[in-house]
Amino acid sequence: MATERIMTASELPGDDAAGPVGVPGGGGSLRPQTFGEYVGQRELLEKLSIAVRAARERSEPMEHLLLHGPPGLGKTTLAHVAGAEMGRKVYTTSGPALSRGTDLVGALTRLEQGDILFIDEIHRLPISVEEFIYPAMEDFRIDVPVDSGLHARTVQITLKPFTLIGATTRAGLVSAPLRSRFGITHHLQYYGQADLETIVARSAGLLAVEVKDKAAVPLIAARSRGTPRIANRLLRRVRDYAQVRGGKKGGGAITLALVEEALALEGIDPMGLDELDRRYLRTIGTTYQGGPVGVEAVAATLNEDAGTLESVVEPYLLQIGFVARMRRGRMLTAQGAAHVGGGSRAGEGLADGGLFDGDK
Ligand code: ADP
Repeated sequence: MATERIMTASELPGDDAAGPVGVPGGGGSLRPQTFGEYVGQRELLEKLSIAVRAARERSEPMEHLLLHGPPGLGKTTLAHVAGAEMGRKVYTTSGPALSRGTDLVGALTRLEQGDILFIDEIHRLPISVEEFIYPAMEDFRIDVPVDSGLHARTVQITLKPFTLIGATTRAGLVSAPLRSRFGITHHLQYYGQADLETIVARSAGLLAVEVKDKAAVPLIAARSRGTPRIANRLLRRVRDYAQVRGGKKGGGAITLALVEEALALEGIDPMGLDELDRRYLRTIGTTYQGGPVGVEAVAATLNEDAGTLESVVEPYLLQIGFVARMRRGRMLTAQGAAHVGGGSRAGEGLADGGLFDGDK
């Protein structure tokens, strides 16, 4: 049975997904619109604000930017913020939506000087589309094929200088030639507790949610897997719960007890892990005796997609040290095993030297 997750690889309807193409900031109510509203990722914000200011002063587009990191950390948001700060429009598309290079002709020729083209899931661009955009990125021109067979020829179209922002959850799958054409590349980090508290408090304000117990905000933040999207989603679920179960007297206000109850109902444990995380840990711990085991084998046992496990489930479990990634596969660590209440051979695996694969 597929587990319903609080985190998915893409936005769900009702989340504050990107707004209509060409509208800076998107239609979402919770999305930050400016650098000032964007919480955390300070190093990246500093790099970007310098790039934006320099570009504006020279009246040039900002450099092409590649953002990678787990879903929900604010890559799309940042593309819209960059557009707003540049005072330019943002056009969005995604890798899987583009099957031929010519699919991009309309979007590329529509771009005005300095506009931003945002390509989500850029690792899923077919190679033909990648090759089509190389000259667009480098020389702001495209070669469009006209006719075929005997009369085949290409027509060159000059584009207005623009910025390409690519986002990916699987940096390793972005080809080297494509990656090398980005002027700025940045890996987004999971958010710390303080930043997540700021995000939850800000969202509660925007959603006009009354927070009765001060400790409710830190609790939601601590359970959100370091991810703003999850923080916002948990807040919405708690808001619903408080409205329905909080009683008439409660008036929809959030208390610590209501947060605990709502999160328990969602299957979110004290580490912020959900049922899929725990099934993943239990599978390695019991079916594969703690590992090492390849991700494909775990995915097959769980009846889940290996790519989803790699980009959505594993990064956080690696970050908190519940699994270790070795050349021979994944291993449950002692902490991971303790969390799901089982034994682990992690000590042995880590002790046999030279096999630890870091956080590659
Ligand atoms: P990604 O593109 O990396 O999957 P998004 O940009 O769609 O993530 O972000 C998910 C949601 O989380 C956004 O809609 C926004 O409300 C919230 N969010 C992300 N980053 C931040 C941030 N730095 N500050 C405040 N809210 C954020």
